[in-house]
Amino acid sequence: MADTSTLGGSRAATAVVYKGPEVFHLDTISLPELGAGELLVEIEMAGVDGSELHMFRGEFDHLNKRAPLIFGDEIIGRVVATGSPSERDVAVGDRVTVEARWPCAGCLMCDRGQYYLCENNPNREGYGQISMSKAPGLWGGYATHVFVPKAALVYRVPDELDLGSALVGCSVLANGLRWNNYAGIGAGDRVAVLGPGPQGLACAAVAHRAGAKVIVIGVEHDSERLAAATRLGAEAALILVPGDEDRLLDQVREVFDEVDYVIEASGATSAKALATRLVRHQGTIVNVSVSASAPVDWMALLRKEVTIMHALSHPHTVEAALKLAVEMKNEGTKLGELITHRFDLSEAAHAIQVASFNTDERPIKVVLVPSLAGAVPGGGPA
Ligand SMILES: [Zn+2]
Repeated sequence: MADTSTLGGSRAATAVVYKGPEVFHLDTISLPELGAGELLVEIEMAGVDGSELHMFRGEFDHLNKRAPLIFGDEIIGRVVATGSPSERDVAVGDRVTVEARWPCAGCLMCDRGQYYLCENNPNREGYGQISMSKAPGLWGGYATHVFVPKAALVYRVPDELDLGSALVGCSVLANGLRWNNYAGIGAGDRVAVLGPGPQGLACAAVAHRAGAKVIVIGVEHDSERLAAATRLGAEAALILVPGDEDRLLDQVREVFDEVDYVIEASGATSAKALATRLVRHQGTIVNVSVSASAPVDWMALLRKEVTIMHALSHPHTVEAALKLAVEMKNEGTKLGELITHRFDLSEAAHAIQVASFNTDERPIKVVLVPSLAGAVPGGGPA
């Protein structure tokens, strides 16, 4: 028999439903009956990503066609019900994270373990991007509950990790860990990270811990984030004044003779050209951000024999990232402290604007906390 011992009287979820461009609505959705290997997770915290602004604005036709849908692919919560048989090594009451995407029944890339590149999922459907027309509808983190299908990948959060550190660990740190490893960044490498958002900071922290020397580069409004970069081990945190790239290059050279790797995490079109200038001859640019319209100066890359890599998501990395988050905590670095702003579900649209630097707030990491609705009137900055 299915274990629903902690569901109590709750038979419905509340979710922030994206109905179409610029329209969120708080809806009530029935909780599903669970089959074998399925779980229901009550969400404690969900990450808000600045890139979700583009989704909210309706800039992606393929997502608009899937509306209604529930955003959110960085999820930490407690298992509140399991199907029968459970077929999983987690139980009701366990704190878990669910990975945004999972392998299909069989394709070349999933067989290779690269399920983020699944050939049967060319539109990259996963948490935050699946239409609610697909039962049971609870496919995103902007909600009180999320449904976990049998194929999804679930990881128990170590007991010693606080909620915020678990949220940062399961998502941005997992990306940072996988991207550094994929690029082969290691001891003695000189790394420049463009863009000190949560993702850039995670890349910097992981590179530093791998023995690399790291510079993090932002712009004027990034001062809080650049201070965090220094706390996470960056040798220098530099501010680029747009239009004065020459000065920045001089500042970088005062720290490193050369830059072996540039991690482009800003997504800014101009940063792609800057990366080409920053990287040494025969160096590597690791692109981890979306910038669809950035032109590529192939001649500049050819003249320096630059290698360009792209890295997307974090297959097979979440467990290692959570373990790394515990190690960092034991050494005095609580990743949860990167979370500067917490909002309840009713404030999701505002949370996205804050995360995108479209308000006067200067956040590092923004999250939604469903339980805030009853605890803090109006939610607001933590
Ligand atoms: Zn596949």
